[in-house]
Amino acid sequence: MRNFLIAGNWKMNKGPASTRELLDNLTNEVTEAPDKVEILVCPPAISVTSALSAVEGTDIKVGVQHVSYEDDGALTGEISTGMVLETDATHVIVGHSERRQYFGETDATVNKRVKKILEDDLVPIICVGESLEQRQKDQHHRVVLNQIKAALNGLEADAVSSVVIAYEPVWAIGTGETATPEQAQEMHELIRDDLADKFGEEVSDSVQIVYGGSMKPHNAEELLSQTDVDGGLIGGASLKADSFSDIISVAAKLAG
Ligand code: PEP
Repeated sequence: MRNFLIAGNWKMNKGPASTRELLDNLTNEVTEAPDKVEILVCPPAISVTSALSAVEGTDIKVGVQHVSYEDDGALTGEISTGMVLETDATHVIVGHSERRQYFGETDATVNKRVKKILEDDLVPIICVGESLEQRQKDQHHRVVLNQIKAALNGLEADAVSSVVIAYEPVWAIGTGETATPEQAQEMHELIRDDLADKFGEEVSDSVQIVYGGSMKPHNAEELLSQTDVDGGLIGGASLKADSFSDIISVAAKLAG
């Protein structure tokens, strides 16, 4: 009953002109989202309006990679949800491990951002995931559930039903290492059960839980065919129109 979400996280790649070029190539291959599949690209903020103009008339949605939890003010370099709302962007990535690692993002700031994003009717894609060391010490379940608990702290069930959760084991991001389908399914099921316990079955059934960590055309099918894997947050493979559209085709085949 949940749609797949195939989302590209472009990170610090593609200015306005190269965004146009990549999306012109992508829209040569895909314009209509297949039934039960949502397509999203998240370019750098400076390229969002260029992306929106390139995907006009298609089903491809555009999101951003980060927002402030403040409305406005002396915060050099930041962008606000209000600014995002002046565009037609729909989603915001929050709590990505690179933000946690390099920019001081904490569970507490993730929670503030999630609340701000929901307050302004945007969709947060909340990234969680354990490090290699945490997995080796068998702490991965606790780490991920704690990150989710903190991110959703203070939210009502109704609000939780609008979030997307991205399980991104840190050891699989940009490394070419991928979680096995069993490892992904195990964690996604744990997350869904935890949401059911805290917010009820209806909410847990509706939340899209996507996998991120070196998803590529060759491994997309085994990951996306897991019961609780509702799509992908895709870095490297979203920067090429053909590999991103190949992953969309896999989702279309499984959804059909
Ligand atoms: C990401 O950064 O969200 C990601 C999953 O990257 P990659 O697909 O390159 O591992």
